[in-house]
Amino acid sequence: MHSPFKTIIEPFRIKSVEPIRFTTREERALLLAAAGYNPFLLRAEHVLIDLLTDSGTGAMSKHQWAGMMRGDESYAGADSFYRFEAAVRDITRLKHIIPTHQGRAAERILFSTVLKPGDIVPNNTHFDTTRANIEACGATALDLPVPEGRQPALRAPFKGNIDLAALERCLAENPGRVPLVMITVTNNSGGGQPVSLANLRGACSLCQKHGVPLFLDCCRFAENTWFIKQREPEFADQTPLEIARAMFACADGATMSAKKDGMANIGGFLALNSDAWAERCKHNLILTEGFPTYGGLAGYDLEALAVGFYEALDEDYLRYRIRSIEYLGDLLTKNSVPIVQPTGGHAVYIDAKAMLPHLPANEFPAWALSCTLYLEGGVRGVEIGSVMFGRQPDGTEKPAAMELVRLAFPRRVYTQSHVDYLGEIILHVNGLRDRIHGLRFTHAPDVLRHFSARFEPVGGTLVH
Ligand SMILES: *Cc1c(COP(=O)(O)O)cnc(C)c1O
Repeated sequence: MHSPFKTIIEPFRIKSVEPIRFTTREERALLLAAAGYNPFLLRAEHVLIDLLTDSGTGAMSKHQWAGMMRGDESYAGADSFYRFEAAVRDITRLKHIIPTHQGRAAERILFSTVLKPGDIVPNNTHFDTTRANIEACGATALDLPVPEGRQPALRAPFKGNIDLAALERCLAENPGRVPLVMITVTNNSGGGQPVSLANLRGACSLCQKHGVPLFLDCCRFAENTWFIKQREPEFADQTPLEIARAMFACADGATMSAKKDGMANIGGFLALNSDAWAERCKHNLILTEGFPTYGGLAGYDLEALAVGFYEALDEDYLRYRIRSIEYLGDLLTKNSVPIVQPTGGHAVYIDAKAMLPHLPANEFPAWALSCTLYLEGGVRGVEIGSVMFGRQPDGTEKPAAMELVRLAFPRRVYTQSHVDYLGEIILHVNGLRDRIHGLRFTHAPDVLRHFSARFEPVGGTLVH
């Protein structure tokens, strides 16, 4: 029952605490330089508020921990698998449920099974691992977001939608070269923005017309249901579970990183209706992940997930979750910090191009901003910009469409006072914005370079 009072509280109390450690600015300056100005290379113990990702970083419930105690570790046919499979099938209504150790394993298995060089996979916006796994097959990962999805300051209800006209053109112009279409809910790389059911249904009917299967990258399917419930009047009275089923009814398959809306620390799945594809995917799974009833996971992980998928669909949880992101977004907007509007499901995205207009794309403004947030306040976010996406498959550089710093909230981990602190740090950094220098590479790997690249500040110091 929704409370009649207007203060939204964390809908949980804390049973086990994890201390976090303060450092001084001087210490952080040394630590950042030693990490080659790459926040991925910092030790977590040196981070105060860690918003690098919401992936696998959430707190589990007592029901999930209790489930873990009954984990069945049988190699084949474990009870835990059947509970996991029943939960995923109940929510998705998809036929074959294949567990994987995380999302990218599901992506690799699917794409290496069904793609050949020269193929095209359209998506609203590919996540970095999705793009990398498609490109590793010699295929093209094509982003087709709606135009409003590329304008950070514009407020629109469903900026995560796929551009249906562009999708129709792509399908018509490339017969036989599009083995599947994907839609990412919510659109992570595009600001955590939701996709409407009308858009999913539109994409579904285009795909059916062209005989091409539609897959959801459904990492944040539960958060997406909340936006549909709030913003698509037809669904206002439906439960998140009913809305999730309506979303999956548009799809022939799904890949999921269950480290997001599975509410667990590890896990994923590939789910699909095609018997022929499922059989080939299972062979591929056995080769690298494990037998099809565990797929690289422990029995206890499958138990945690079977519970977690439903907890992610709890209305009190979703109300608190989406509101805590919006709360930070409101505070920043009130103080003229440019962010992607409106706030999405799992993160606040600061628009570094707008905040640091003096830095060109080749000095990586969003990367510089993420480093400055750590230096000044011990906060770790992640760049979603030209370091992550600038390198083209042919080795040339092209600036990313947007230069964003994503501050992703782990699920059920931080409280309102953490968010207030975060607001204070971001406003402090915004006050220093004219003094922030750009960065250049000292080491740049070819693939997924943001994970291991090293940098130096262009002017010798990051903040002058
Ligand atoms: C996290 C994520 C993935 C990859 O999942 P991993 O579990 O990190 O391998 C794929 N797509 C989207 C949209 C994601 O957010």
